[in-house]
Amino acid sequence: MSTGIRRYFRSLLDMYVSTIVFTSLIILSLGYFQLAFPLDHNNGINNYLENNNHTSFSILSGNTSQKNEALPYPNINWENPSAIEQAKIFSPPRVEKVTDGIYSAIGYGVANVMMVEGSDGIIIVDTGNSVDQAQKILQAFRDITSKPIVAVIYTNSHPDHTGGAGVFVEDGLKTGNKVDVIAQESILGSYYASYGMLAQQRSIANIFWGGLLLPKNDTDSVISYGIGPSWISGNRSFIKPTIFFNETLDTNISGVNIKLVHAPGETLDNIIVWLPKQRVLFAGDNIYRAFPELSSMTGAKYKDVPQWISSLDKMRSLNASYLVPSHTVPVLGYENVTDVLTSYRDGIAFVYDQTVRFINKGLTPDELIQAVILPQYLRDHPWLQERYGQLSWSVRGIYSGLVGWNTGDATWFNPVTPEERGNKIVQSVGGSDRAISLIRASIKDGDYNWAAELATYVLNAYPDNVEAKLLKAGALRIMGWESPTSGARNWYLTQANILEGNINATTIMNQPKYNTLDEAIATVPIKNILSLLQYRLDPLKSQNTTATLGIYLNDTKEGYTLEIRRAVLEYKDSFPTKYDIALYTNSDVLKEILLGQSNLQKAVDLGIAKIVGGNVTGLNNIANLFEYKLKAPIHRIQGVN
Ligand SMILES: [Zn+2]
Repeated sequence: MSTGIRRYFRSLLDMYVSTIVFTSLIILSLGYFQLAFPLDHNNGINNYLENNNHTSFSILSGNTSQKNEALPYPNINWENPSAIEQAKIFSPPRVEKVTDGIYSAIGYGVANVMMVEGSDGIIIVDTGNSVDQAQKILQAFRDITSKPIVAVIYTNSHPDHTGGAGVFVEDGLKTGNKVDVIAQESILGSYYASYGMLAQQRSIANIFWGGLLLPKNDTDSVISYGIGPSWISGNRSFIKPTIFFNETLDTNISGVNIKLVHAPGETLDNIIVWLPKQRVLFAGDNIYRAFPELSSMTGAKYKDVPQWISSLDKMRSLNASYLVPSHTVPVLGYENVTDVLTSYRDGIAFVYDQTVRFINKGLTPDELIQAVILPQYLRDHPWLQERYGQLSWSVRGIYSGLVGWNTGDATWFNPVTPEERGNKIVQSVGGSDRAISLIRASIKDGDYNWAAELATYVLNAYPDNVEAKLLKAGALRIMGWESPTSGARNWYLTQANILEGNINATTIMNQPKYNTLDEAIATVPIKNILSLLQYRLDPLKSQNTTATLGIYLNDTKEGYTLEIRRAVLEYKDSFPTKYDIALYTNSDVLKEILLGQSNLQKAVDLGIAKIVGGNVTGLNNIANLFEYKLKAPIHRIQGVN
């Protein structure tokens, strides 16, 4: 049992259990827990899925009525049954035959890898997240056929679809074939954008959303990723596409007629793959067996929901007999496919249309999420369960995408600071001790959200109040355990563990791994990196600086301008006609300098960099105006001081 859980139970004991009788009961029930759920630290979630009967763990096993009154945490089930049912989809990892010649490898990683068998070669649709995952899948495919790989198709740019490409391409090339890699034309832009101006924010959000720092084999562990088993990272091998298309591409590969169609939805570059003869439709990320993320928790761009609906309509019009999504499971049979596609489309359309309807009636986001409720038949549909996306986030995302920040109440135009609000609310309820007892009462009443909110006010006023931290952690933990939605569970539990001090977020987030400029420098073209520098200019250091820097790369014959005008950087894709200082070098050297693997003086001494109009010191003075390593200031509301 982790320190977090121990501390959590200890805090419960401290707070609520005053008699030796109850203490003994708790210890007994914890003993029961350990016997019934031996958490083998060498095995993952799949293991416990296989080895226990999924009955709920309750702190209060046995005779509960009396104890429920004594403790405000009755019958806590740390495994939401809906989340457990979703996790079973991915366990064990396997290759499923969809129909003759069509296979989907499920559960090896977050996304599936599909195989289409042609007359003398095979086509891979999506490639998995990592080299390791791709190797395992290729091995499993090799039990089915030894035909060479002749083409790879990406349905979108995300790493779980593109990260294993090298394994399949290399395997194909070994046989002397050429291997086409096919994708929609915006894929490279999307791929590079993942290393763009908000890469660090995304990276931090992913820690919470993916539960990357949660303990393993524990009641706080990740149950699944909603649309895949827990995120398994590893070395990636993205291969640049060799064939791009815009709207559609009709082709024949190894005797298989294939139609590729741009169908934006979950991502802008999403494509669908249609095999007219076999009547098989590969959906990419436009549908999976869970309510969609119409608006992302981690901060992806506003998604154009009507465009997603029209892509689903395009898919429906094909009258497919087999639907093969890149996440979760395939659907077999025309009627099933029609039902799933139509219900999914209608579920999304209902949320969008009713949100718009209520926006026009003047409802605010907090009111909208109460008003927009799916009709029962859609609420019950197995493909619309909130195990990945959540309806309320979708509604909020649509509101902010269509309306913006103003909820209509002028009170919130220029509100008091969080600290002031915390102070005033705590005073209004009669001080922090009184606030703490109100938080406890709310937990006892099952009003966990309000308990967490009130604890937040206390913490905004008194950031070091340990009781408020532990109570907030307890309330968040229960909401996390109760949530069927993977991202919500992980976020609640990560925040709870941060509040308890089990996860040191500041230290972890300030590691180079999460300062993603390094990864960008290693991955994307120089001009993408230079265009990111404007987001790292320190206004205090640069407020009196006016300077134009020219950069010319001898190998690519490309030039760039960085013009600093008193706290603002203007970047241009061309060499300046007039400059104060200029650097001539080549791409590799510039990358090495940016990565700190080589310094400017050394490059100049070696003759692989030349400075005109100044010297190394002058150039370094300009470089020092930028905040190269962004320290993550995580607000104490998430538990960090
Ligand atoms: Zn995906």
